[in-house]
Amino acid sequence: MSAGTPNPVLSEGARSARVDRLERVRQAMDHQGIDALLLSHGADLPWLTGYSAMPLERLTLLVVPRRGTPVLVVPGLEAPRVPDSDGMVELAPWSDAEDPMDLVTDLLRRAGATAGRLGISDRAWATTVLGLQRHLPEARWREASAVTAPLRAVKDATELEALRRAGAAADRVAAALQAGEIPMVGRREADVSAELGARLLAEGHFQVNFAIVGSGPNAASPHHEPGERVIQAGETVVCDFGGALALDGDVGYCSDITRTVVTGEPTAEVGEAYEVLRRAQQAGVAAARAGVTAASVDAVTRTVIDEAGWGEYFIHRTGHGIGIEEHEDPYIVVGNETVLEPGHAFSVEPGIYVPGRFGMRLEDIVIIDEQGGPERLNRADHALAVVESGVAP
Ligand code: ZN
Ligand code: ZN
Ligand code: ZN
Repeated sequence: MSAGTPNPVLSEGARSARVDRLERVRQAMDHQGIDALLLSHGADLPWLTGYSAMPLERLTLLVVPRRGTPVLVVPGLEAPRVPDSDGMVELAPWSDAEDPMDLVTDLLRRAGATAGRLGISDRAWATTVLGLQRHLPEARWREASAVTAPLRAVKDATELEALRRAGAAADRVAAALQAGEIPMVGRREADVSAELGARLLAEGHFQVNFAIVGSGPNAASPHHEPGERVIQAGETVVCDFGGALALDGDVGYCSDITRTVVTGEPTAEVGEAYEVLRRAQQAGVAAARAGVTAASVDAVTRTVIDEAGWGEYFIHRTGHGIGIEEHEDPYIVVGNETVLEPGHAFSVEPGIYVPGRFGMRLEDIVIIDEQGGPERLNRADHALAVVESGVAP
């Protein structure tokens, strides 16, 4: 999910970071023979310009030729929301009486790129892509992420600072959860979810992206939608929540943390499974170092859980990158041979899910620091917190 722009006044640090990003984008375009990037709504646009376009049916498209000032083709009525770029980007507002595709075609003609290789936003609507293809029959098309994803995956100093602050804010909510300050037994999952979200806002996020609360058998569904179920005593409850936090007028960066709590003393089986999960997560974080592949970190957590006999219940990848989007490169998954490097930011979140019975997950965001080692952005207690000592009804 892409985060909005809460404050259009940009700091000098954020501006110079953007100038630097544009330069690196252009180097990558030269390297890959891409003649222009066409960025619609999605996270590439705010990463480069600070503008988060709403995913409207009206066309928003940043045209980035190899040289010259990028031009943002934007619906006229949205233009007042575009933050001042201090000359980095030129605005081309269009009215409802115009065809914005003609405007884009014209810009590409001036850049000599109508028959070139064009990189289009991964998140662009099909109507945008097909409309452009009709206007530009000679162009060849690629995903813009071929250029932007590896660059966005390596966070600069301003981005790392925003991620750290978001992680610390999420940690304060997790600490309250683990201290038993958020009542569980007798409440609906949806109510606990709403409280987690409200606390994220109170701790400085400007937006809640999700607050999963899965109790009892629902905890075995990793992305359970919190609902009417009333939480009982003696259950594991998976709480996975995150939102976006912004610094100095920059765009928002995401938090994402999971802690599992238990409402009453855990059974021996749950206690044992959790100990395996905790060891797996710890081993995964320790293995996250510059020079190893993303896949190897996945293998480390999976091996701990496999060897303890719970492997069939770990049903998803170990993690995902995080930044302006909750899920982005690098993915910590089998087959991803991306070599980790300083500035990579991602989750390490193994889980154990026993269908119909119980589930658990433990998640921290980790960045690869300048020395090449793992820096945990989440430090809330990793033990299984017993939050209420009620008697099962
Ligand atoms: Zn997820
Ligand atoms: Zn999560
Ligand atoms: Zn996650």
